[in-house]
Amino acid sequence: MQLFSIFGDPVSHSRSPLMHNSVFKNLNYKACYTRTHLLDGKELKKTFFDLGLSGANVTVPHKEAAYEACDEVRGFAKKVGVVNTLINENGKLIGYNTDADGFMFSIEEFSNINKVLIIGAGGTAKALSQKFLEESLDVSVLNRSVGRLSYFQEIGCKIFSWDSFTAQQFDLIVNTTSAGLSDDNLPAPKEMIETILEHTNYAADAIYGKLTPFLQLAKERNIPFKDGADMLLGQGVLANELFTNHSLNKEAIKQEMTKSFLY
Ligand code: NDP
Repeated sequence: MQLFSIFGDPVSHSRSPLMHNSVFKNLNYKACYTRTHLLDGKELKKTFFDLGLSGANVTVPHKEAAYEACDEVRGFAKKVGVVNTLINENGKLIGYNTDADGFMFSIEEFSNINKVLIIGAGGTAKALSQKFLEESLDVSVLNRSVGRLSYFQEIGCKIFSWDSFTAQQFDLIVNTTSAGLSDDNLPAPKEMIETILEHTNYAADAIYGKLTPFLQLAKERNIPFKDGADMLLGQGVLANELFTNHSLNKEAIKQEMTKSFLY
């Protein structure tokens, strides 16, 4: 029996145990997934091996600490310096990042995405912008404060503050701000959001568990949209493929994880 866990602070709210155990149980994979409340990110590696884990996920605020803790970091995680999935490979801690690919997975049904606007300039925006650039998309970033935008300009995005933004056509708008998470705020002034939504084919939000005011406006305009639940599902499916060393069918993993969202 293999053991997996999620590390975070807080961690009690995490849906990951439900998602992964649903896959393990229903696809007869001999493993169990638990949660570990970890206060100090520096203790991550020791705790991982003391618990005898085969793999883990990492959530706020330990994703950077997880990157530091790894013996080897692979793929996209290397580029962004952020790890959300850990694998025990013969006693070595190997790090991956499935968040950005999870988002791409969540928008698979959106077609002809070439020009994207990301609202927000935090960690999620960094991961998504890097991924979009890798996919050769035209990426613009709009943020409330100007200071965080220089990173995005350096990697090749167009940048806009609320003052410098001008209306233009996008294929997809993604809200990566925390506006709407525990309040009823929009991620930019209402007139600006309305203009943006008039000129987009699709909308997405990283926030899950509620219809944010941003998605509410998209819905009213009949714009196809995705909330963050699909991103959460997407990163989970990809992490589970790594946990089970690709021995389970991806579509079957997705089906079982999707069912866990109904509990
Ligand atoms: P960060 O704290 O790194 O960044 C937050 C961003 O939001 C900043 O750009 C900030 O702007 C902006 N912001 C915050 N409040 C407002 C507001 N009222 N109006 C406009 N802009 C605002 O956060 P993360 O990138 O780590 O997370 C962002 C969101 O994504 C969270 O809600 C999180 O829950 C969600 N998330 C979802 C995941 C999933 O699997 N579905 C995975 C990861 C994150 P400024 O620079 O001006 O302060």
